[in-house]
This record gives sequence, C-alpha cells and structure tokens, in this order.
Amino acid sequence: MNAMAADVAVVGAGIVGLSSASFLRRAGVPVTVYDPLPPGGGASYGNGGLLSVEACIPISTPGMLRQVPRWLADPLGPLAVSPRHFPKALPWLLRWIRAGRMDRVLRSSDALRALHVPGLDQYRDLLGGDDFHDLIRTSGQVHVWTGERESRGELIARQLRERHGVVAEKLDPAELRQLVPGISPAIRRALFVPKNGYTVNPHRVVGRVGERFRAAGGTLRQERVMRILPADGGWRIVTNTGDRRHSRVVVAGGAWSKDLLAPLGVRIPLEAERGYHVTIRDPSVEVRIPVLHQSMGFGATPMEMGLRIGGTVEIAGLDIPMSPARAERMMALGRWLFPRLDGKEVSMWMGYRPGTPDSVPIIDAAPGHAGLYIACGHGHTGMTAGAVTGKLVAQLVQGEPTMVDLQHFRIARFG
Ligand SMILES: Cc1cc2nc3c(=O)[nH]c(=O)nc-3n(C[C@H](O)[C@H](O)[C@H](O)COP(=O)(O)OP(=O)(O)OC[C@H]3O[C@@H](n4cnc5c(N)ncnc54)[C@H](O)[C@@H]3O)c2cc1C
Repeated sequence: MNAMAADVAVVGAGIVGLSSASFLRRAGVPVTVYDPLPPGGGASYGNGGLLSVEACIPISTPGMLRQVPRWLADPLGPLAVSPRHFPKALPWLLRWIRAGRMDRVLRSSDALRALHVPGLDQYRDLLGGDDFHDLIRTSGQVHVWTGERESRGELIARQLRERHGVVAEKLDPAELRQLVPGISPAIRRALFVPKNGYTVNPHRVVGRVGERFRAAGGTLRQERVMRILPADGGWRIVTNTGDRRHSRVVVAGGAWSKDLLAPLGVRIPLEAERGYHVTIRDPSVEVRIPVLHQSMGFGATPMEMGLRIGGTVEIAGLDIPMSPARAERMMALGRWLFPRLDGKEVSMWMGYRPGTPDSVPIIDAAPGHAGLYIACGHGHTGMTAGAVTGKLVAQLVQGEPTMVDLQHFRIARFG
C-alpha cells in the first residue's frame, strides 16, 4: 500500500465520476479513478444524448401514477417491473409512489431545475471550445404527444415548466413537419424547447473527458473496487488486483453505488431503471433535431453513428439479462414515430440508469464517514447533469461553497 497526501480516489468512470475527477484534478488535487471498464462503459455509453438543461419534471408525479397500472399491463410498455425482481424493488417502488406527492414534486422540481440549468455551460468549461463544438449541438429539442387533450400529468408538467420560466414554443402541425419531416401523423401536439441540446456521441464525450483528465496528470486504473474500508483517517481501496490508500473517496459508481456503499452501513434508495436503445446506421429518414415522446417515454436523437431511438424503464435489477423483445420494441417505436424509417445496421443496447425515488441525485458527504463522498442517482438526466455534478463534487470535496445549494441532494432527505 502506498500513502498519498490529500488525494482523492473516484470509483466509477462514467460521466459523473470522470467529470468529478477532472474538476478536482484541474484544482491541483491528485486523483485516481477506478473502473473495470474503459471510460463511459456504463449508462454513460449508450444514453439518448439529450442535454435537457430545461428538464425540471421528476418521473413520479400525481398525474403519472394514474397511468402506471395501464403501463404495467403491457410487458413492452414504457414501464415494466420484472416479477422476479419485484420483491427486492418493492421498498424503492413505494418510495417512488410517495415521491409523487405534490409538495415533494415541487421540491424535486426545484432541485432538478437548479442542477440542470448550468449543464451546457459546464460542458463548455469541461471540454473546451473545440471539443464542445465537435460533440455538442445547441439545437433545441422537440417534445411531442399523441392525444389531442392534455392529460393530468401533462398539466402538472406544464405548471412546473411555467414555475421555472422554461421557454417552450407550441408548434402547429405545419411547423412540426417542417422541423421534423417524416414524423408520424399520429403526433397531435408538439413543443419546441430551444434551450435544450444534445450530444452526437455520449460515449465520445466521456472518452474526451477521460483523455483530458489523463493529460492533466490524472490516473485511470482499470480495476474493479471490491471493498472501500476506513484506514488511519483515510481510506483503503481494495480492488481485484490491488490495495491502495487514499485520503478521500468519491463513490460515483452509477447504479452499482448502492452495493459499494452498503458494507459501510451507508444505505441509499437506488434502483437500476434499465433503459434500451437501438441505433440505426444510415437511416432512411433525416432527423435533424432530437424528438422526445414524453408520455411514451422514448426519444430519437440524431447521432454521428446514426439515429438512436432510446428510452423506456424496466425495473429488473442488475443481474437479469437484457430482454431482446424490449430492444426490438425500441425499433418498433422508432418506426411508429417515423413510418418510413429503415436503415442498414442496427445496434441494440441496454443500460442501467441509477434511479432515486424522487429523480434527484445524491450529491453529498456520507454522514458519519469523514472523507467519503457520494455522487450517484442521476436517473434519466445524468448525461445532462454530468459536468455540473463534477463541478459540485469538486467544490464539496475541497470544502468550497457549491454553485448549487445541495440541501435537497442530501441522503438525509430519504429519512
Ligand atoms: C437508455 C438510456 C437513455 C438515456 N438517455 C439520457 C439522455 O438522453 N439524457 C440524459 O441526460 N441522460 C440519459 N440517460 C441517463 C444517463 O445515461 C445516466 O444518468 C448517466 O449516464 C449516469 O452516469 P454515472 O456516471 O452516474 O453512471 P455510469 O455511466 O453507469 O457509470 C458508473 C460506472 O461505475 C462503474 N462501476 C460499477 N461498479 C464498480 C466497481 N465495483 N468498481 C469500479 N467501478 C465500478 C461502472 O463500470 C460504470 O462505468 C439515459 C440512460 C439510459 C439507460
């Protein structure tokens, strides 16, 4: 074991871990990142790439809960719960339902708003101008709905958008078809959200953050962390191949963070909200701007690899293999949204969103464990919030005032 002065170990090389490591390294802190996978091998690899800086609506809302029975009745619908995993997930699901109470929804919405707004600016800072322009588009997004009339959930979502002054312009059918040619006539209503953006390749974003981190003198170790143990006022990181000491540790292990923290007695309500994507190379429809179908829980993003159709939620834990039927369903959803959609090759993927019941991540110092920090639980918007979270973690670890009030990001909110 080798001791280092006031250094930091970051567990997890997803967008959250690597952004945290980069901002810390930039402040002159010696940092080692641990992950058995190369940068961006987890959820950060295959997400929808939406950088939704205007997103302020938690998943659990009173309006949404009414739809849950209908969704669960369709095994390939926007939400599925594996019967095998259900008993394990039940406490999280009950918290998720409670998080849909209006007073809690408002608190979560305010927290998400504060976290997301600086999203693009922090990527510009983290990546530098050239990489930002190479990887990120500030095109806005189009959000669409099928029904003629606003549902209760949509009404709440609109009220939350208005509460935060989100800019959203209604599109009439002609404007929609001009912005998104080839979109299905089944789409009845649409909004243009001009301040949102997207990345043309989320995996490459994480890769670039990792390269910049390494170039700045950071260390990446491709090792799996088996145990995190307190040792002489610092921390021992025991991996599959080594045993090292660090002054402080940041756990940014995405959906795996719960299992990394449990042996230390730190309990967090975290569930893997599994999502799927298909990416269609050389698609036969030209999509120039991301389209998000809010109520069906999926979106289409034009990427440099092709058109990515991604989304839906499957609560099935970390061990059950991906469902080919759900992956194929993404293709069917893509064809439903763009009836002429076809393409050369299709890649299919499933990833684990690290989900908290209230959709708000945990960004906190672990209570009762000096020098241990947690940054996980970013759910559906971790790509959006990755860079901002990195900045916040760096500020938290260095004892500086944080650019966002972290009160509602604490573990203590779960009681
Ligand atoms: C289908 C899908 C679509 C999505 N679309 C969007 C979107 O459009 N916009 C958006 O903002 N967000 C989106 N998300 C969410 C976003 O991808 C996640 O919130 C984000 O990637 C989480 O980042 P992370 O760094 O916390 O976790 P991850 O990227 O999962 O990284 C965690 C890392 O920890 C590592 N790890 C685990 N265990 C250990 C261990 N024992 N030792 C060392 N390392 C370990 C893993 O290997 C992994 O690399 C989507 C997610 C999915 C699945």
